[in-house]
Amino acid sequence: MKLAMMAVNPKLYSHTRLVEAAEARGHEIQVINTLRCYMNIASRRPEVWYNGEKLPRFDAVIPRIGASVTYYGTAVLRQFEMQGVFPLNESVAIGRSRDKLRSMQLLARDGIGLPVTLFAHDPKQTEEVLKLAGGAPMVIKLLEGTQGIGVVLADTDRSAKSVIEAFRGAGVNILVQEFIKEAGGTDIRALVVGGKVVAAMKRTGAEGEFRSNLHRGGSAAQVKISPEERSTAIRAAKTMGLNVCGVDMLRSNHGPVVMEVNSSPGLEGVEKATGLDIAGKIIDFIERTAKEGKTRTKGR
Ligand code: ADP
Ligand code: GLU
Repeated sequence: MKLAMMAVNPKLYSHTRLVEAAEARGHEIQVINTLRCYMNIASRRPEVWYNGEKLPRFDAVIPRIGASVTYYGTAVLRQFEMQGVFPLNESVAIGRSRDKLRSMQLLARDGIGLPVTLFAHDPKQTEEVLKLAGGAPMVIKLLEGTQGIGVVLADTDRSAKSVIEAFRGAGVNILVQEFIKEAGGTDIRALVVGGKVVAAMKRTGAEGEFRSNLHRGGSAAQVKISPEERSTAIRAAKTMGLNVCGVDMLRSNHGPVVMEVNSSPGLEGVEKATGLDIAGKIIDFIERTAKEGKTRTKGR
C-alpha cells in the first residue's frame, strides 16, 4: 500500500515506530509535515500540495495531529478524506475528541462511566458548583491542560474556592470533578485498535502524587484489565468514532470511569511497558480495513 503519515515531528518514538512497522510489512510510507501542506480549498477536486508537488493518491493516511495543530491538521486530513482516502482516524472524530466537554457529554449519553464532573462559566455559581460536585476533596482541572499540568487537588472547600478563583482570574476554562481517591494515584490506559483492546497499562504517580502522568514522574507497567474495563474502553472508542485511541480510566468504587479519550496516543510508554508491537497492530488494522471511499464522514 501507499501510505502517508501526517506528523509535525517525524523523530518522535511513535512516528518512527509506525514508519518501521509499515516498511517491515512492505508498504511505502511518506511522512508529511502537516504544517507544510497547502491546498486550494475552493477546488472541486480536493488536492494537497507539498514541497512544490501535488501529493499522489494514497491508500490510507495516518493522522498524528498534536493538540496544538488540531485546527489546521484536521483541515488537511479532511482534504484527503474528500479524495476518498481512508484515514486511520477521521477528522470529525479527532475534532470531537479534542473538545473535552463535548466528549464527556457524548460518553455520558451512551452510559459510559465518568467521574461526577461540573462545568460553569459564571464565577457567582462557584458555591453551587462545589456543592453539586460533592464537596472537597475535589479535582479542578484546566479544560485545555495536558500532561497533568493544570490538574489540582483541593482538600478543602476553601482551597477549592480559591483555586477556582485563581483560574477564573486567569481567564481559563475549568472543570470541577469528584476526586477518585480509591484510584490511589494510578490510572489505566487501554489502547483500542479497530474495536479491540490491544494493550493496557497502568500508570502510577510518583510517591505522594495523585497524578499518574509519565511526564509528572509516574511509572508504567502492563496490567490485566477486567472485562468491564475492557468493554468500557471499547464503547468509549465507538462513541467517539475513533479506530485508534488511548482510553484513560480510573478504577473507582462505582466501576471504571473514563477521564479522557486520546486520538493520537503515544506508543512509547505502552510498547515499553507491555513489550507489544502496537505500531504493527495499527498497520495490520490499516491493511485489513483501508478501502477506497471507506471514510464515513468525509469531514461532514
Ligand atoms: P491530563 O489530560 O493533563 O493528563 P488528566 O485529566 O488526565 O489530565 O489528569 C492527570 C492525572 O491526574 C490522571 O492521569 C489521574 O492520575 C489524576 N486524576 C485526574 N482526575 C482525577 C480524579 N477526578 N480523581 C483522581 N485522580 C485524578
Ligand atoms: N502523551 C502520551 C500520554 O500521556 C505519551 C506518554 C506515553 O508515551 O505513554 O499519555
